Amino acid sequence: MIWSNSVYNALKKQRDPAYGSIIFDTLAAACGTNTGRRMKLQVLGCAGGIGGHERLTTCLQVDEDILFDAGTGLSSLDIEQLARIDHVFITHPHLDHVAGLAFLVDAMMVKRTGTINVYATQQIVDALKKYLFNWVLWPDFTTIPDVDTPAMRWHVIAHGATLDICGRMVTPYPVNHTDGSSAYWVHANGDGFLFTGDMGSTPDLWARMAQEKRLTKVIVDCSFTNADLDLANKSFHFCPQTLQNDVRNMPASVEFLIYHLKPGQEDLIMQELAVGANRPFRAVRCGESFQF
Ligand SMILES: [Zn+2]
Ligand SMILES: [Zn+2]
Repeated sequence: MIWSNSVYNALKKQRDPAYGSIIFDTLAAACGTNTGRRMKLQVLGCAGGIGGHERLTTCLQVDEDILFDAGTGLSSLDIEQLARIDHVFITHPHLDHVAGLAFLVDAMMVKRTGTINVYATQQIVDALKKYLFNWVLWPDFTTIPDVDTPAMRWHVIAHGATLDICGRMVTPYPVNHTDGSSAYWVHANGDGFLFTGDMGSTPDLWARMAQEKRLTKVIVDCSFTNADLDLANKSFHFCPQTLQNDVRNMPASVEFLIYHLKPGQEDLIMQELAVGANRPFRAVRCGESFQF
């Protein structure tokens, strides 16, 4: 969906002067009715590093217009597909999750007239403004071609507050990784999925999501083998032992899809996850898609 100028003008009037927060009633009005809406999840990148054609870093696409993270997996979309991205939700500012965002806004400068809306918590927005879109590593695309019609716009989100993106309901929850990191619970009218981003042990997230009857899939980090337990804990990632322990009380009906496996250690991590587990775990693959 490319928003019309009238919608942009309405949003512009309502945006927060510091970060451009919008009132989502306006977006809902632009979308029309979404009764019975289904959604498609496409895995564009899910590896814990590069090294081979399937090792693309974190990027999930919902329908044609929404991304969750924008790692190197975003490079699998062609220019026409990139031009249909209107919304990008960021879990945290590590490069394997945001490198593609820098190239996306640059590529779209000449391809489209609409703004790409980027959503993250205050801490994440502050970090991306300070360290990436700072005119040193990359231009500040919130000011070009001009501040009224920028290539991208920040939207500060709050943990626990649900956003309605044309019938796709997106709720961020806090996870232990970098300061302000988010997991995203996403659903339309049917079932939905939880995408954790990178995370270490976060019992509050599982306690909350265990109550969510529409949750059918979880895409969760398990970066390291059990031999690297200390490194996993220090860097706020899971290894098989800590992931099994964190999710042991989640309903058996929820399928756990593992992502962010370190290159070269994929098989060993999955073997370790199968030992002593009270549920199956499966590694998600680049190019897989799911309907909800
Ligand atoms: Zn990370
Ligand atoms: Zn990562």
